[in-house]
Amino acid sequence: MPDDNSSQQPAPPEPPNPERKTLDDRAKMTELERIRHSCAHVMATAILRLWPDAQFAYGPPVENGFYYDLECSHRISPEDFEKIEAEMKKEIKANNPFEKQVVTREQAIADAQSGRLGGLVDRPGNASKFKLDLLTQIPEGEPISYYKNGDFVDLCAGPHVMRTGNIGAFKLTSVASAYYKGDEKNPQLQRIYGTAFKNKTQLDEYFKMIEEAKKRDHRKIGAEMGLFAIDTEFVGPGLPLWLPKGTAMVEELEKFAKEVEFAAGYVRVKTPHIAKEKMYLTSGHLPLLYAESMFPPMELRESRNDPGVEPERYYLKAMNCPHHHRIFAAEPRSYRDLPLRLAEYGCCYRYEQSGELFGLMRVRSLNMNDAHIYCTEEQFADEFRAVNDMYLKYFKTFGLEKYQMRFSTHSKEGLGKKYVDQPELWLKTEEMVQRVLDESGINYVKVSNEAAFYGPKIDVQVWSAIGREFTIATNQVDFAVPARFGLTYRDRDNTNKTPLCIHRAPLGTHERFIGFLIEHYAGNFPLWLAPDQVRVITIGADDRLIGHAKGLVTELRLNQVRAEGDYSDSPIKAKIADAEQSRVHTMLVLGQKELEHDTVAVRLHGKGNVGTKPASEVVTEILTSIRERRG
Ligand SMILES: [Zn+2]
Ligand SMILES: [Zn+2]
Repeated sequence: MPDDNSSQQPAPPEPPNPERKTLDDRAKMTELERIRHSCAHVMATAILRLWPDAQFAYGPPVENGFYYDLECSHRISPEDFEKIEAEMKKEIKANNPFEKQVVTREQAIADAQSGRLGGLVDRPGNASKFKLDLLTQIPEGEPISYYKNGDFVDLCAGPHVMRTGNIGAFKLTSVASAYYKGDEKNPQLQRIYGTAFKNKTQLDEYFKMIEEAKKRDHRKIGAEMGLFAIDTEFVGPGLPLWLPKGTAMVEELEKFAKEVEFAAGYVRVKTPHIAKEKMYLTSGHLPLLYAESMFPPMELRESRNDPGVEPERYYLKAMNCPHHHRIFAAEPRSYRDLPLRLAEYGCCYRYEQSGELFGLMRVRSLNMNDAHIYCTEEQFADEFRAVNDMYLKYFKTFGLEKYQMRFSTHSKEGLGKKYVDQPELWLKTEEMVQRVLDESGINYVKVSNEAAFYGPKIDVQVWSAIGREFTIATNQVDFAVPARFGLTYRDRDNTNKTPLCIHRAPLGTHERFIGFLIEHYAGNFPLWLAPDQVRVITIGADDRLIGHAKGLVTELRLNQVRAEGDYSDSPIKAKIADAEQSRVHTMLVLGQKELEHDTVAVRLHGKGNVGTKPASEVVTEILTSIRERRG
């Protein structure tokens, strides 16, 4: 199961121990990851100095930091952090080298039995039990190595930084509990999280960003602005209700996507939210691959009077592709029909564990900016390029300056297991994708052995205005599933061929994308996207003034602007404060003076008064800004 629910496709089943990285993966660790992982060794050193009975399990780098899992008679709490950090500082100050030593399996087992591995000294009668178990998972023939810093020796394949002094700045952040190898049948361990950076400046910037992210939390701002609600009692967890203001944003995004897709030659389709079991047995999502991520089936008999007939099973769709494949199959297709680009803002349902649900970012109902492009191999490069261009267009509109595409390819070893066993097609499509990425000058990284089951994949990562990273979308090439559905087109030479399929969702899902936009803009959306676009505010409640203000509101609404009026006799200061509080984008203030000259005083949210102008000019500016989706 992909850890990102904006991605569209099932990942292959996890290997039995997801935490164990291959040597290949390890070699790819970035400098920052090495710093962080090395810091985990230093943390273990410090903890052992304080509580020598600690038993260590895994200590990998993770997004934004590192952790180390351990078992210890002392329950470590954040109050202990200062003490641990002080010991860590000593080890960093000592600037000990990380010394690598390759040992035989027998030697490693002997050291683990003496309690020396993941330890400072021999601990007779206290074997390094997790290290002993980890040793059994190192394949025969793979070198076994230790890394030693000061008096701490750990079983580790590396890599690390050269010396403990290379860890520029660090901080312990939290404690949690975790089962050994993520399996609840195993002992529960203490997980200590921390983070490390090259220097203090970067560390400080990171914590400043985290502070800012808290202020911009989409759940907090979403509630303040009345964008969405999650009613766990009556509707269910992970099933957001879009309130009128959130719906205004949803519809703006859809309108935008529809315009962009229409111009790019897409056609729109609509499909039901459920399908028969056969659909997902054919796509391969069932019986196993994706079953855990789908809601359980509904069973029904077409004829209620015939209990002897086996009931049919229906599933809520977890992805739109199979339905679109059946639309492709609904009519005979010729090469002249290709490329065929089927687009739908499709609503999918995924059964995420309740502990995984998080505001709009991790949900069970998802409205996806989906489309499937069916094309020939010759058309592939152009189609793929056009999809990339579409991403760039969106990034520009939303002011996303930093982004990266993660291009995931297959691995030879995974063929027939993690990946469909079609080596030539893999190489060919990966080469095509890579060529397009290289030619377009898009910022990307290539990662091997992380592709989807049926083809290479691109995850799109963006950074919000405060520098926080989000994965918002995926883009995948599929050269296997169309064949499973028997999709063909009649080619020029009168033979039937199977099309390639590109799955793409540049705006991800409404849920995740709006969650992201709330943080990115801190709720201060550009005019076109703002739920409250314009408020006309009168100074006083004079009849003539109100009449004039109402006329202005009507004119704006006739032009599809979300405008409303505040004609109460409250003091103007209070009325403006109220509009500011609601994050109304543009406030048009009308008093007697403005009435006489047919002008309005314009205020922008968070920016204050920007001047008095003729009313007609202001209306034109508002309409232009919305039409051009100005930032
Ligand atoms: Zn290590
Ligand atoms: Zn798809």
